[in-house]
Amino acid sequence: MRKPSEAAGKLSSEFDLIARLSAGIHLSRRTILGVGDDCAIVARPHGQLLFTIDSMVENVHFDRRWGTPEMLGARALAVNLSDIAAMGGRPTACVVNLGVREGIASRTLERIYSGLRAAAREASTDIVGGNITRARELSITIALIGEAGRRAMRRDTARPGDEIFVTGMLGDAALGWRLLAGKLKARGAAKNNRAAKKYLVERFLRPHARLYAGQRLAALRPAPAAIDISDGLIQDLGHILERSGVGAEIDASQIPISPAYRALMGGDLVHALTGGEDYELIFCVRPGRSESELSRRLRVGVRRIGKIVRGRRLNVIGASAPIDGGWDQLRSRG
Ligand SMILES: [Mg+2]
Repeated sequence: MRKPSEAAGKLSSEFDLIARLSAGIHLSRRTILGVGDDCAIVARPHGQLLFTIDSMVENVHFDRRWGTPEMLGARALAVNLSDIAAMGGRPTACVVNLGVREGIASRTLERIYSGLRAAAREASTDIVGGNITRARELSITIALIGEAGRRAMRRDTARPGDEIFVTGMLGDAALGWRLLAGKLKARGAAKNNRAAKKYLVERFLRPHARLYAGQRLAALRPAPAAIDISDGLIQDLGHILERSGVGAEIDASQIPISPAYRALMGGDLVHALTGGEDYELIFCVRPGRSESELSRRLRVGVRRIGKIVRGRRLNVIGASAPIDGGWDQLRSRG
């Protein structure tokens, strides 16, 4: 075992590194005291406080060869921001822990932070604290706070009769991940479709939290039940059903897929239904709102994909290809 003094010697430069990484970080007026003291001081929010945490671990959630360190930093924040988006909130401040293994240059950490800083600034989020710890794998953990108005969107408020909508396109990130991991070989004409592959890989590497859409949704009365898609439509919708004590019918023909998805997969919806990492929103609203009205309001394309029903079953109607994984499990749950 390493003597404490040796360990401390190795760690001493980490204070300098935190200071360097945090230098020049833009802070809003909400932050009274940022990096540099024992705690940060952040002004109390006006509404309800949202609080969330997420980790990205090397070889579990990412492979360093797949993208730049800047992308990694931005992505680590985006997946957290998406949880705030799913509640209809506004992100305000975050603290960051970097787990650093041997062989990671401090330049790499600076580049991760540079991506993180840019993403934070874009989302009006202050980075108010940082920590570095030695670890076996490279990891980025972010704890994020945000604020919501009087009614945050929750998973437990869906009711039979509600219509289920999703933002954006589904399954792109799952395909991008499979392309990067060498787990998906394009077939036929799609083999040389470089543009489609590039688009899909980007959709995995650069997710974008639907913060604006979430905030606009939370302003609806009643506030919709909502969740962000991190683990796939079927699984994440399943969380709403479970928490709300309801079932759902999904119309497979209404699942929104991109031209790039179609180019690679044709009508096979398995990744659109079960693939994760899209960070789109699923939300359930009382009947009577059209796709076009909601798309205008949220400033993103939305698609009505089904409805909430009584019972506990999740039925996907009209899937042209067999769906494995999450769907079968949910189906057999009955
Ligand atoms: Mg989530």
